Amino acid sequence: MAKAKAGDFDWQNLGFEYYDLPYSYHAEFKDGKWQEGKLTENSTIQMSEAANVLHYGQEAFEGLKAYRRKDGGVNLFRPDQNAKRLENSAKRLLMEPFPINKFISAVKEVVRANQDFVPPYGSGATLYIRPFMIGTGKVIGVHPADEFQFHILVTPVGPYYKGGLKPTAYVTSPYDRAAHGGTGQSKVSGNYASSLLPGSIAQKNGYSDVVYLDPRLHENIEELGGANFFGITKDGKFKTPKSPSILPSITKKSLLKIADDFGMEPEETTISINDLDQFSEAGAMGTAAVISPVGSITHNGNKHVFYSETTAGPYTQKLYDRLSKIQNGDEKGPDGWQVDVPLN
Ligand SMILES: *Cc1c(COP(=O)(O)O)cnc(C)c1O
Repeated sequence: MAKAKAGDFDWQNLGFEYYDLPYSYHAEFKDGKWQEGKLTENSTIQMSEAANVLHYGQEAFEGLKAYRRKDGGVNLFRPDQNAKRLENSAKRLLMEPFPINKFISAVKEVVRANQDFVPPYGSGATLYIRPFMIGTGKVIGVHPADEFQFHILVTPVGPYYKGGLKPTAYVTSPYDRAAHGGTGQSKVSGNYASSLLPGSIAQKNGYSDVVYLDPRLHENIEELGGANFFGITKDGKFKTPKSPSILPSITKKSLLKIADDFGMEPEETTISINDLDQFSEAGAMGTAAVISPVGSITHNGNKHVFYSETTAGPYTQKLYDRLSKIQNGDEKGPDGWQVDVPLN
């Protein structure tokens, strides 16, 4: 497959697809240690047919973005948080964690090498960064691999919303995303493999994604597909579910801080699917869309509409504006949130 060229892109009309860019980053763990990683033009991965990842699913990944600033520079948003979360995911799957400081320098290195593909300021598009780790050691019996590969691919992606935030419809599912003692807190591919069926059923029925309920009682909200949930109460308080099987979203962590700065008394708490009337607005939080307003949730055939099915509510808009301005470098954020990528 031919490599993409920066001149080929129409930055205003990018979707969320993979393009094969000039450089990826690759590192290998063997002989008991992480070998020196490096940039590579090889966007394929070679492994044994007996690699653990192919049979027992040792895989963990991250997702973050590089944002072009108005001054032409490039920012990352809280990459240390992605590094730590990947470390936690790796430990849960008995994979050898990739060192946190190396993670951050590798992300900077691969973004710098592909800097012509960081979309222009104002286009709303960004360079999506996908670091991941796989167990490549050979296994037949069920046991952890002794060799791993860490790899980063980057690809330009369009803005989630062209022309303002748009609420979408969600539906609860009889399926579970993750169990309380399972891997819900880890960003691992297995969670996603099992979400493909419920997600596609929801989409066939006209919904944008699934609301997963807690796996014990099917009573409390857990997550929305690949995003965390929040609700804004009628008196302007920010609430988000608390559960041992939710993936700890960095967007959520950041919005908890911003909501606190706005005096919205943020709280992580149990949120019953039968108590949606307490909210005047709701949304999904994740790197892809920052915030995606939840227009409605359908549960047992009953549709609950939040603020509106066509426009975002005022609190949702205000939270979105603040966080996206920090990410784009238009407003200064808390210490450590905006990390400059040195370009050449
Ligand atoms: C990645 C992910 C999120 C969002 O996390 P961010 O760090 O905000 O991008 C939420 N839920 C699931 C299941 C995820 O995999």
